[in-house]
Amino acid sequence: MHEMSLVQGLLSQLHELAREHNKTKVITVCMDIGPLSGVVIDSFQFGFDILSAEDPLTRSASLVIESTPATYLCCGCGKRIEEELKPEACPACSETLLSPEGGDDIILRQVQME
Ligand SMILES: [Zn+2]
Repeated sequence: MHEMSLVQGLLSQLHELAREHNKTKVITVCMDIGPLSGVVIDSFQFGFDILSAEDPLTRSASLVIESTPATYLCCGCGKRIEEELKPEACPACSETLLSPEGGDDIILRQVQME
């Protein structure tokens, strides 16, 4: 499962952060996982629940996942469309060639430690 290795990457990142800041416990982790990132958020959450439970640093950490939607740029008129799902066509000019921008990020937004 792709998400498991992402969670492993996240956990080693958390270990590094904790070492840098001399912390021993992660309280909350905020992630931004875009809908076009290819990550199944439920699987990521599931992987985090399993792997974090085995780790003293993250045992009681809670994971907050945000999902910033992509925007679509119309190739006809240049209109920017903000929709959760890719629209069939541009609402302004009916162009069907829309190119996605953003929405594919996997970002560690914020970590609370103590
Ligand atoms: Zn358009």
